[in-house]
Amino acid sequence: MELDEIYKEVILEHYNKPKNFGKLEQSDLVSEGMNPLCGDEIYLELAISDGRIKDVRFTGTGCSISRASASMMTEIIKDKSLEEVENIIKKFKGMLLENRDDVEELGDLKALKGVRVIPVRIKCAILSWDVLEQGLKEYMERKKSE
Ligand code: ZN
Repeated sequence: MELDEIYKEVILEHYNKPKNFGKLEQSDLVSEGMNPLCGDEIYLELAISDGRIKDVRFTGTGCSISRASASMMTEIIKDKSLEEVENIIKKFKGMLLENRDDVEELGDLKALKGVRVIPVRIKCAILSWDVLEQGLKEYMERKKSE
């Protein structure tokens, strides 16, 4: 099987059976965003304690790339510290926006590497990550002023 084929399968698998899809009973952070170019919408909920992502869910509508990216993102950030999450965000964005290839720790997310040659799809892949980053920023600011 071609590498591209495997990648396509990973994306389709997450699109058809997204991980952590739904809502949390209690969340510490909600964040949402959309990509008007494609019509993708992501709504993200996180439960955070002791500086770690305890739980995460997302809902939304959109194309296979945006949904697969959100699904894989929720998988990789669960149980990670906020510091680790920031590093993962940096890695993922570096892969798509700066053509970086030092991305072993991204696991399945490497399947999205192919979209970096299709600029209009980069926005689809990055949407959930922007939503996460924005949410974390607001969370940190809220914590600081508490
Ligand atoms: Zn899209």
